[in-house]
Amino acid sequence: MRQVQHFIAGQMTRGAAARDGDIFDPNTGQVQASVCLGGADDINAAVDAAKKVQPEWAATNPQRRARVMFKFKALLEANMDELAELLSCEHGKVIADSKGDIQRGLEVIEFACGIPHLLKGEYSEGAGPGIDIYAMRQPLGIAAGITPFNFPAMIPMWMFGIAIACGNAFILKPSEKDPSVPVRLAELMHEAGAPEGLLNVVHGDKEAVDAILAHDDIKAVSFVGSSDIAHYVYQTGTANGKRVQAMGGAKNHGIIMPDADMDQVIADFSGSAYGSAGERCMALPVAVPVGKATADEFVGRMTEEVGKLNVGISSDPHAHYGPVVSAAHRTKIESYIEMGVKEGADLVVDGRGLSLQGNEDGFFIGPSLFDNVKADMQSYQEEIFGPVLQIVRADSLEEAARLPSEHQYGNGVAIFTRNGLAARQFAQKVNVGMVGINVPIPVPVAYHTFGGWKRSAFGDTNQHGPEGIKFYTKVKTVTQRWPDGDVADQSFIIPTMK
Ligand code: NAD
Repeated sequence: MRQVQHFIAGQMTRGAAARDGDIFDPNTGQVQASVCLGGADDINAAVDAAKKVQPEWAATNPQRRARVMFKFKALLEANMDELAELLSCEHGKVIADSKGDIQRGLEVIEFACGIPHLLKGEYSEGAGPGIDIYAMRQPLGIAAGITPFNFPAMIPMWMFGIAIACGNAFILKPSEKDPSVPVRLAELMHEAGAPEGLLNVVHGDKEAVDAILAHDDIKAVSFVGSSDIAHYVYQTGTANGKRVQAMGGAKNHGIIMPDADMDQVIADFSGSAYGSAGERCMALPVAVPVGKATADEFVGRMTEEVGKLNVGISSDPHAHYGPVVSAAHRTKIESYIEMGVKEGADLVVDGRGLSLQGNEDGFFIGPSLFDNVKADMQSYQEEIFGPVLQIVRADSLEEAARLPSEHQYGNGVAIFTRNGLAARQFAQKVNVGMVGINVPIPVPVAYHTFGGWKRSAFGDTNQHGPEGIKFYTKVKTVTQRWPDGDVADQSFIIPTMK
């Protein structure tokens, strides 16, 4: 059986691994490969490899570093089909979604290609007599990233793309559920010219994560995953003196105003609530129609739309979405559906019990739709992360806007309306980090930054864009004096800017 190994110092290695994990094919429900689960020895080996090359990489001028990123981008494009197939067969998302996953990561690499410009510092001429000040951004040294299963290409690239372009070495600990694409990315970076040891991949679970959090030479940790673990990583990493950004779970709301274009709304919810089997942190699993007429129309048309969704294997070009990532995750989704029923919500469409002919053991689950969900229900308050859309009816925009604002998560939110003023005021006031106006999945492009609020993100720096550059660098400010003439009298006083 295929074994997915660590990638340390440019080599595949089993490392010190005493444990292995199973990698399933969610389409068949069968184990298709194993993955080495690393620990402190493997993290130490990766750090040692990183230390050997990082100083020289940091001293390499930024346009040369950018050339590696340009080459890497070209390799991603050349290998897109192979990467997408590998991604789909471990994650379960359909090929078009896998290509989207890679493409959004590739766009961060495109952003990182501009690193010579992005790292330009500040300069103040004549801040005092003969005094100029300049500030520069320098890399931190070694940074690490811990990533979730749901975007095994994009999220690693959010992190290492920027960290490496800034002059750092990087250690990636990807999800143990779909680790093959992250390893291929590291190989391609190597092929693009990254020196051996600059980007290392160490697989594992809590043991590897704890080794990262404890290692003195890892200066920054970027995490994306569920909120409790994000909080743990944030607390432990910062207590150990590291810079940490830790993105967590989500429960994004889409508010539908009575004047919204309902054709667009239905198409958008179909894609954003059910696409990728709802396993997206920017999915739209809660619909909030405003007013009874809007709600009744939405429920009727959405029920019809859900009936048209095709669930199929990830290589089926006609499938809207594929299986979820694991049997355990499917059970969790089903238990939330059961909970919603017990709490008194109306289950309009029940997706449980779907069996796909020829793939009966695959981790498939049909689309579910709930109406009359209430804010005090646990099934509403928690993240389900599956193909389940919950409708919470509201009588006014104020009432609708309170729902996302008061929810424990604050990743994304959307409003559908033709009223510019209402949209503008909503965007200004809502207590959520990323807002879409007639955009169902408002993931900011690579040159802006990505990050939620409340329990969707711990730490104060977002992913990619200018905040990514800030996260992976520290500022050094130089005050220099080249006096013109005799300054003997001033030699021992603190220079002032008079
Ligand atoms: P997860 O929290 O189970 O795993 C994330 C990472 O943490 C993995 O690398 C995993 O190996 C590691 N991990 C697991 N258990 C751990 C433990 N006890 N201690 C330390 N590390 C541990 O998340 P997942 O199931 O892979 O991904 C889905 C979650 O990620 C959802 O909650 C989703 O909303 C969230 N997510 C958030 C964003 C965002 O940007 N906010 C983006 C994508 C996914």
